[in-house]
Amino acid sequence: MKESLNKLKDKTRELMVLSNIGSVLGWDQQTNLPEAGIAERAEQITLIQALHHDRITFPEIGELLEDLGCSDDAPGGTRDLDDVSRSYLRAVWREYSRAVKLPARLVTELARSASLSQAAWVKARQAKDYQAFAPHLDTLLKLNLEKARCLGYQDHPYDALLDEYEPWMKTADLRRVFRDLRTYLQGLLARISEAPQVDDVFLLKPYPVDRQEAFGRTVLADMGFDLSRGRMDVSAHPFTTSLGCDDVRITTRYNENFFKTSIFGIIHETGHALYELGYSQDIRGNILAQGASLGIHESQSRTWENLIGRSRAFWNHYLPRLKEYFPQQLSGIDMDDFYRGVNKVEPSLIRVEADEVTYNMHIILRFELETALLEGNLTVADLPLAWNDAMRDLLGVVPPSDAEGVLQDIHWSMGAFGYFPTYALGNLYGAQFFQRLRQEIPDLDRRIEQGDLGCILAWLRENIHVAGSSKTATELLKEVTGKELSVEPFSRYLEEKYSDVYELSGM
Ligand code: MG
Repeated sequence: MKESLNKLKDKTRELMVLSNIGSVLGWDQQTNLPEAGIAERAEQITLIQALHHDRITFPEIGELLEDLGCSDDAPGGTRDLDDVSRSYLRAVWREYSRAVKLPARLVTELARSASLSQAAWVKARQAKDYQAFAPHLDTLLKLNLEKARCLGYQDHPYDALLDEYEPWMKTADLRRVFRDLRTYLQGLLARISEAPQVDDVFLLKPYPVDRQEAFGRTVLADMGFDLSRGRMDVSAHPFTTSLGCDDVRITTRYNENFFKTSIFGIIHETGHALYELGYSQDIRGNILAQGASLGIHESQSRTWENLIGRSRAFWNHYLPRLKEYFPQQLSGIDMDDFYRGVNKVEPSLIRVEADEVTYNMHIILRFELETALLEGNLTVADLPLAWNDAMRDLLGVVPPSDAEGVLQDIHWSMGAFGYFPTYALGNLYGAQFFQRLRQEIPDLDRRIEQGDLGCILAWLRENIHVAGSSKTATELLKEVTGKELSVEPFSRYLEEKYSDVYELSGM
């Protein structure tokens, strides 16, 4: 048995290496690639993906898993094995059994269509021409329906697709959670809209980019991001990627007239990077050295960005330091002005620029539209109209063109249906974990005010990071907080914070 396990580990280590090679190509594409190299790069990335699919579906992997007692009913294999090995087998079984259900033809067709579709999406968005993108979206929708059928599902085709990003999560669970979330947010937004708006005009002054970067790098270092094991570069869309266990890279973007983009972007991506760098040595280089789910990954970035990075305690420490970099821009701005300014709530068109209160409405909208598309209750042709109606309904704003509406995000052009909900789940998981962290570190705010961010990282490492994906999101949540997924910790957090920012009276 030991021999089969070791053989399997060798095979899956190669898969991690292949996936890291894919990350090198992807990172380079987003940061450095000359425009003329795009077509060749797409070919290189498609080949790596095909090799990965080829390797994970090797009959030998299936035989080794069978030797070790793995099946749909017992994904962790024989009970004689220790917990770490059983978690490992469960993860390999999951990936193997999903991959063998997908014909190689479908995998290649999805990769090729996604690559063509992304190129068409970039042009369509520039030209504000949804019609030019619609045939590509139609193709990807059909291929995703076929993918869902191949993978199999009980209640909803969305279950099969969602599972890729948020393993074991079901559409019905999301519907319930999003219903509660939507009701709460609508009430809070209505109360905020009656309060006087906060003034954030000082954030729109010119803040030289080199100083934004210098300040951002001090915060990243204070958070514990060790740059001997990573880098920070610039890209059009910020992201974090692992090129290996000791090579985790983040990117950010700078806007001279909108300082918030870079600083909160750096804090967000560093939150992702710290998770990737925090997996325990026992799972180093194997399939468990990844996030428990995309939602759990996002909980790490959003906790740092919002619960810590937009808190009073954080800026009590950092505002005097920030003023050393930008004495003129911030002259006359006190702690209260700054705190309220960076926490301004305003219904707006673009998801990635949305504040903490309206953000989840953008996700609920996308979730409702993509499930309707898969159910056949909405056509690709009617999508822009449905988008605009939902925006009016949820946020009271309507995009002037599809570029600020249905064409704004890259995800559907990549064929990624089922991805969006992980962003909202990240907010919910994050608030739930943070409630627990606060109970265990009662003087947290005082420590943050003194610049001690290390106590947060130590807690996150021990309770969340080290496990990698050896626990599912649900298991992790239950183990750390003792509870199931709930909207309550997040709504309580928003309630306390925005009652303060907007001086709201109780409900
Ligand atoms: Mg993120």
